[in-house]
Amino acid sequence: MSEQVRVRFAPSPTGHLHIGGARTALFNYLYARRQKGVLVLRLEDTDAERSTEDSARMILDDMKWLGLDWDEGPKVGGPYGPYRQSERLDLYRAQQERLLETGHAYYCFCPPELLESKRKQAMERGDAQPKYDGTCRTLPMPEARARAAAREPHTLRLKIPDSGSTVIHDRVRGTVVFENKIMDDFILVRTNGLPTYNFAVVADDAAMKITHIIRGDDHLSNTPRQICLYQALGERLPVFAHIPMIMGPDRSRLSKRHGATSVNAYAEDGYLPEAMINYLALLGWAFDDKTTLFTRQALIDKFSLKKVSKNAAIFDPAKLLWMNGVYIRSLSPEEYVKRALAELLKARLLSEPLDEPARAWAEKAALTVKEKIKRLAELPQSMAFYFGEEVECDEAARAKLEQAKEHPEVFKTLHAKMTVLKSFSIQALEALMQELITAADIKFGVLVHPLRAAITGRVNSPGIFEVLELLGQERTIKRLAAGLKSVGIEV
Ligand code: GLU
Repeated sequence: MSEQVRVRFAPSPTGHLHIGGARTALFNYLYARRQKGVLVLRLEDTDAERSTEDSARMILDDMKWLGLDWDEGPKVGGPYGPYRQSERLDLYRAQQERLLETGHAYYCFCPPELLESKRKQAMERGDAQPKYDGTCRTLPMPEARARAAAREPHTLRLKIPDSGSTVIHDRVRGTVVFENKIMDDFILVRTNGLPTYNFAVVADDAAMKITHIIRGDDHLSNTPRQICLYQALGERLPVFAHIPMIMGPDRSRLSKRHGATSVNAYAEDGYLPEAMINYLALLGWAFDDKTTLFTRQALIDKFSLKKVSKNAAIFDPAKLLWMNGVYIRSLSPEEYVKRALAELLKARLLSEPLDEPARAWAEKAALTVKEKIKRLAELPQSMAFYFGEEVECDEAARAKLEQAKEHPEVFKTLHAKMTVLKSFSIQALEALMQELITAADIKFGVLVHPLRAAITGRVNSPGIFEVLELLGQERTIKRLAAGLKSVGIEV
């Protein structure tokens, strides 16, 4: 039986989950589910200054919103916990001791100012990427241990082989070779005793038996260092798969300039998690050159690292918006109204408690705009005319309303007949309008465009009869009278 796949998503809790992080989390999730493996979530919070509890909570919430459930990690636990690096310091200490004992790591007492001035000098000499010069590499261990025990400030460094090369067999990037001589004896443990990212990540990935590391290719340059560390620890190498960077439509690295970059902002803006998942999956992965819509299950069934591209992915907010509209339209009426009502409550167009008739009315009204919106957050705006007594006409609607002046008598009759209509239903309203246009020998639009403008304040709305029925007789008559009056037709 082949070994069980174990992957991990390892965010640093320094803010909301952003698009890039979510895409990495998703690829790990899909790979784990496809391979019937395990997804581990690990919080990399050793940077005490930047990590916050709030961020950790937000990231977990964002993951839950996307439906990316993890098998081991915070909240759910697991056999290799704890799953926060700040709670794993003992493990790093044990590993650093092992590295010192085997001669793979050494104490470095060089003061930061000295390192900095040496670095500057080297750069002035034309060395673009100066390495640590190795001053402490050859200190005899007993002396170094004694100085460390006497609390002389120090770091720990990994001894990188002087010659040879480190090769990454990356599932996405192919074979990537790094010459060891250009690699630094990098720091494993800082002066404050805390592990660096490269050290903690390898210690944890090894301890958590991670088999595949799927992460953004901004980490590719860290990988040779990490491989040296695996070798120094005598641990088996995982498979690496570095997924391409995400850029904005202008092909520069995705940033706030391109619009919202946090998953949370999209949630707030009325994007559906299903649409977000579908869109994120296409950032660097494709099943073929034509299919764009995938359910979560289809993604799980089809995802493979073989189809992940080396080339940067373009995040196109317009395509995401389009896709979200597709997903909204494909929601069942029940699912749609559930989410729509939550949005209207949030916007305070509705308030709780909502009695049955009010709920039924709101559901019907929300359904009339289902085909028109691309984001749930558009609901309050696109349904605004259903609320309140009066409406204000936008410019285009005002122009349509003016056209009522060409047939003032027809509109006066419309108003009068609506006032006495017994049942204010779609059927009755349809019959009434039919009667009027036949009698006046005018086209449907001649009557309906000014009417729509007066009632909704706009030139586009859901089907006018549905709108009138939902608004009810009283408000319709009032708005029609006010609209007509504003163009000089008194009723
Ligand atoms: N905490 C790192 C990050 O957020 C994890 C990188 C990795 O996956 O190794 O970038």
